[in-house]
Amino acid sequence: MLNKIRRRLGLKFFISYFVVILVGIIVLISATEFTVPSAFDRHLAEMTEAMGPSAESLERDLFDNFRNAVNESLIISSAAAFIAAVLVSIFVTRQVVAPIRGIMEASQYIAEGHYDERVKLPDGVDHSDLDELGQLSVSFNQMTLQLEKGESLRKQLIGDIAHELRTPLSTIKGSLEGLIDGILPATNDTYHQVYQEADRLQRLVNDLQDLNRVESSAYQLDLAPVDIRRLIEKISKRLDLQFIEKQVRLSLSLSPTLPFVLGDEDRLTQVFVNLIGNSLQYTPAGGVVEITAQLDKNEISITISDNGIGIDSEHLPHIFTRFYRVDKSRSRAGGGSGIGLTIAKHLVESHGGVIKAASSGVGHGSTFSIRLPVMA
Ligand code: ADP
Repeated sequence: MLNKIRRRLGLKFFISYFVVILVGIIVLISATEFTVPSAFDRHLAEMTEAMGPSAESLERDLFDNFRNAVNESLIISSAAAFIAAVLVSIFVTRQVVAPIRGIMEASQYIAEGHYDERVKLPDGVDHSDLDELGQLSVSFNQMTLQLEKGESLRKQLIGDIAHELRTPLSTIKGSLEGLIDGILPATNDTYHQVYQEADRLQRLVNDLQDLNRVESSAYQLDLAPVDIRRLIEKISKRLDLQFIEKQVRLSLSLSPTLPFVLGDEDRLTQVFVNLIGNSLQYTPAGGVVEITAQLDKNEISITISDNGIGIDSEHLPHIFTRFYRVDKSRSRAGGGSGIGLTIAKHLVESHGGVIKAASSGVGHGSTFSIRLPVMA
């Protein structure tokens, strides 16, 4: 019984009301037993004095009847108070215990892995008008929504990785089977093809490791003053040959008086190599990639524009999402994993900067702009 009470909030409410009423009744009974007789005697003594000796038997009769009347009303009011205790405890239990029980049941369901579970909220009531328990339910639902999102991201990530690994692995396996069965000639070309796929796998794994690091903030920026103009010139020199080979012109328009940025040079290099490399990859021969850098208030504004294939407006909002590729077959064939821009965004933001993409549409080129705060 004690255990049952301990586990039921409703029973506790009922007992607390019952105890209050019981104490009230005991106080009333004690009052009628001990203080009422003496008060009654005192008042009647004054009355009998005025009425003479015949009033003595009348006094006893009167007192007995008075006491019976008081006891009768006590019994009726006790019964009414008891019914009130039951009704009030049922009402309070509904108001307090039901939402708590709702949260308890939902949390048990979520613990079993059902992240779509929500606590039912009263219909047509604005969330700000809810009491503390209602607010708790709202917060609980927000928490479960985040859990659900996290879980679906996790599932999607595993699916994406499996998908990304499958293509190069099946190509390697197919080529090796061809070699074993003697269908494919054991030439340099065949070995080169297998090597390229293995290389793609390695790049993908490296990208994934990088992505994991930036997404879980498990990396440290080695901060130092960085000369953005010098950095872009250095990267351009490194990529020069690739531009010449693809017959794409690289044009720089960098302000000569740029202040320093407090940043990690290696990480910023990674961002610029990715963006310039993308522009080169998605710009056909004869095209131009232009890099500009200038001071704008207390930020350095850098743009990397190309007149290449462009990005459709429907894809623009997603290109910083991991594994997102506009043309899946083309960028995969080019070795792209759709992770580069996600990493670039994380890195720019970790420098207190902003990265944006713009394009006037397919065939009209793309512009990636970065703003980095200048060093204080
Ligand atoms: P990937 O490694 O596939 O290039 P990114 O994350 O660097 O991955 O880019 C994501 C997608 O954004 C690319 O697959 C491509 O479709 C699109 N994209 C990026 N840069 C450009 C650009 N300069 N021109 C056109 N499309 C681009």
